[in-house]
Amino acid sequence: MLLEVRNLQVKYGDAPALWDATLTVGAGQIVSVVGPNGAGKSTLINAIAGLLRPSRGEVLIEGVDTARLPAYRVCDHGIAIVPEGRRLFVQMTVMDNLELGSYRAAAHASRQEALHEVFSLFPVLKERSNQISGSMSGGQQQMVAIARALMARPRLLLLDEPSLGLSPAVVEDMFRIIRTINERGVAVLLVEQNITKALELAHHAYVIEDGRIATSGDPALLLNDPQIREAYLGV
Ligand code: ATP
Repeated sequence: MLLEVRNLQVKYGDAPALWDATLTVGAGQIVSVVGPNGAGKSTLINAIAGLLRPSRGEVLIEGVDTARLPAYRVCDHGIAIVPEGRRLFVQMTVMDNLELGSYRAAAHASRQEALHEVFSLFPVLKERSNQISGSMSGGQQQMVAIARALMARPRLLLLDEPSLGLSPAVVEDMFRIIRTINERGVAVLLVEQNITKALELAHHAYVIEDGRIATSGDPALLLNDPQIREAYLGV
């Protein structure tokens, strides 16, 4: 299994935000974690990326426990994150942001191939490689953030709310791009409040509520589940 999260608990101070999360992502899969605001989605994905240290549980990447490694070491295991709010270096150019994505030795060696790949996914970033990233539209900044993560040549891409703050048309583009990235062989773990889109895209899905995985299964079945429709889609 590419990623196996077992009984993960993460606290802020004494307060657990994630109680006991168990989930898996297979090689080449798209897995979505959906749930309301404050349910613990960012906490989960940041803990997997090594940005938060869990108080209990394991994060296994191809069997190796990375739960207590710093983020840069987790990155060496083939995991890259696109954090909520993008966290671009907004005063720097697109190209400089991309370069920073490949600063670890393993990725640096294949930097040219990675750039080629990223520019084929996002031609607009090639045209605008010298533009200051903070001056771009929200959708383009999200592309830079995804491209920067891909520069690390991950096997698993972690995406935290890629649709946040984007117009419906741009959200469509973003989800199409995520599908293409996956078709090129990268597994994706997506956390989203846009439940419909996230479930339509995924091969497997988890619903998270109050820091706990409430249910999981086939996304199409979840999307048609009357309880889920009532609780999350208001229908
Ligand atoms: P959102 O979509 O709003 O980001 P989420 O599902 O990603 O929601 P988290 O951000 O993981 O949820 O937050 C889970 C819980 O942890 C919430 O109750 C939140 O208030 C709390 N929390 C998040 N970050 C911190 C922090 N740095 N310090 C203390 N509590 C936090």
